[in-house]
Amino acid sequence: MTLIHHDFADQMDRFGGNTALECFNCGTCAAICPLIYEHFPRKMIRYLQLGAKDRILENAKELWRCLHCGLCSRTCPREADPGEVILGLKRYVVANWRKS
Ligand code: SF4
Ligand code: SF4
Repeated sequence: MTLIHHDFADQMDRFGGNTALECFNCGTCAAICPLIYEHFPRKMIRYLQLGAKDRILENAKELWRCLHCGLCSRTCPREADPGEVILGLKRYVVANWRKS
């Protein structure tokens, strides 16, 4: 069962990537991402929005697939900056992996 942490987006302030709340899940970033991998990065951004910390930690290795090419951030229609959100989630995972 996935636990929902309603304050997770607020916690992400200190790691960067709090622009995730701007995302309206259009899927443009997943379509343009050269990884073409299971709706990445949209999927991770959705987990952040929902406060599904466990899902992010369970799938943390996926974050390190990101090439930081910036294509997703350049094409996002909501300025949610998905590339920066992925970087912020990596910081979060590094800070929390021992606790998971
Ligand atoms: S392109 Fe932007 S608004 Fe669309 S799913 Fe990705 S982050 Fe969200
Ligand atoms: S920055 Fe990362 S998530 Fe965004 S398009 Fe490039 S590889 Fe994909």
